[in-house]
Amino acid sequence: GLAGCATAASLAARGWRVSLLERHAGLAAEASGNPQGVLYLKLSAHGTALSQLILSGFGHTRRLLEQLHRGVDWDDCGVLQLAFDAREGERQAQLAAAFPPELLHLVDRDQARQCAGIDVAQGGLFFPEGGWVHPPSLCQWQATHPLINVLTHREVLELDRVDDQWCARDGERVLASASVVVLAGAAEIKRFAPSADLPLKRIRGQITCLAQTPASQALATVVCAEGYVAPARLGEHTLGASFDFNNQDLAPTRAEHAGNLQRLREISEDLLQRLDADTVAPEHVQGRAAFRCTSPDYLPIVGPLADREAFAQVYAALGKDARQVPHVPCPWLPGLYINSGHGSRGLVTAPLCGELLAAWLCDEPLPLPSVVAEACHPNRFALRALVRGKSQASKVQS
Ligand SMILES: Cc1cc2nc3c(=O)[nH]c(=O)nc-3n(C[C@H](O)[C@H](O)[C@H](O)COP(=O)(O)OP(=O)(O)OC[C@H]3O[C@@H](n4cnc5c(N)ncnc54)[C@H](O)[C@@H]3O)c2cc1C
Repeated sequence: GLAGCATAASLAARGWRVSLLERHAGLAAEASGNPQGVLYLKLSAHGTALSQLILSGFGHTRRLLEQLHRGVDWDDCGVLQLAFDAREGERQAQLAAAFPPELLHLVDRDQARQCAGIDVAQGGLFFPEGGWVHPPSLCQWQATHPLINVLTHREVLELDRVDDQWCARDGERVLASASVVVLAGAAEIKRFAPSADLPLKRIRGQITCLAQTPASQALATVVCAEGYVAPARLGEHTLGASFDFNNQDLAPTRAEHAGNLQRLREISEDLLQRLDADTVAPEHVQGRAAFRCTSPDYLPIVGPLADREAFAQVYAALGKDARQVPHVPCPWLPGLYINSGHGSRGLVTAPLCGELLAAWLCDEPLPLPSVVAEACHPNRFALRALVRGKSQASKVQS
């Protein structure tokens, strides 16, 4: 997917030979397989680590996309985020005060209609450099490097360390071995013992595809409210997306198509009619479902991983006093790295996180401020658990 292909591309660009193991017949067959994803920045006005990552990641992905075919692989048509309620309006006003107008600016209802080319019920925030991307094209392009060997139909069932090599196997068969392994299989990486404790969760999402009509050609930007709709790619618009925390099945459901059509209605009654979607029955529309993979703090999980038990022992002192700075080397799992947990924004975060990993691995200056890299570090959960252990102990004492 986006994380694996980006990591492979960043390493290959630095001269590494990469085996890219994928269980399906081709790349981008799971979360990264939607026909259109939105390149959209969900920022915070308070400069949080997540917001800094999103801003840098957006610029990085945009620069990569310049190499791809505009109109088919991606389009910089802009993204209009409607102020669909008072709270969203307030959030947008804060963002407009915090960021430069070239990145985002407020538009009133008339300006919003002009940007979007259709009628909308509110103004909002316009991101002129945003747009949509065909994620499989980005994956394919990143994996096309002479140093990357794409090995499809290879499902890794076990991961062992033999001497100084990691060995990926599906039972008896060795699929690949190398001194460095990067786990980029979204939440599936929990099946391997070293990463089994990472708090990754799967959240099912479904998109709906609607055929372009002569009247829907007027749609000129991506428009978002609770959901999103993109201008057509190759004659088809993508509407998204549902969130289902319980369903573990990937067969598209009628109920979620109905939900996506309702989200389209909330974006624009006018567009709903232009797409003849006000009369279409949910059982007659097409779409696909996949799992997002999220972490509890919504930041991706990127970097080297330590041995969980050894980590808890070596840094046990932090459980008594979180302000200590123990001068003990971290018990790393040598050569084991993670690039996962990209949630709903992998288009913005996964490519830059490939660069971040490659920088860790090649001992280069990091492409992000160190506070942001630390906020994404795989060890953060083990560290927090140690420190929380301390606060629970002191509560018991008091
Ligand atoms: C409905 C929906 C809508 C979305 N909309 C947007 C959007 O508008 N904008 C945006 O930025 N993001 C969006 N996202 C999120 C984005 O798609 C993800 O963040 C991104 O695709 C994650 O990439 P990934 O490589 O981590 O995971 P995936 O794409 O899931 O890739 C993981 C890959 O690992 C392979 N794999 C797993 N286990 C193994 C194994 N044991 N052996 C071999 N191969 C294995 C899988 O087959 C898969 O190809 C959306 C997601 C969904 C589900």
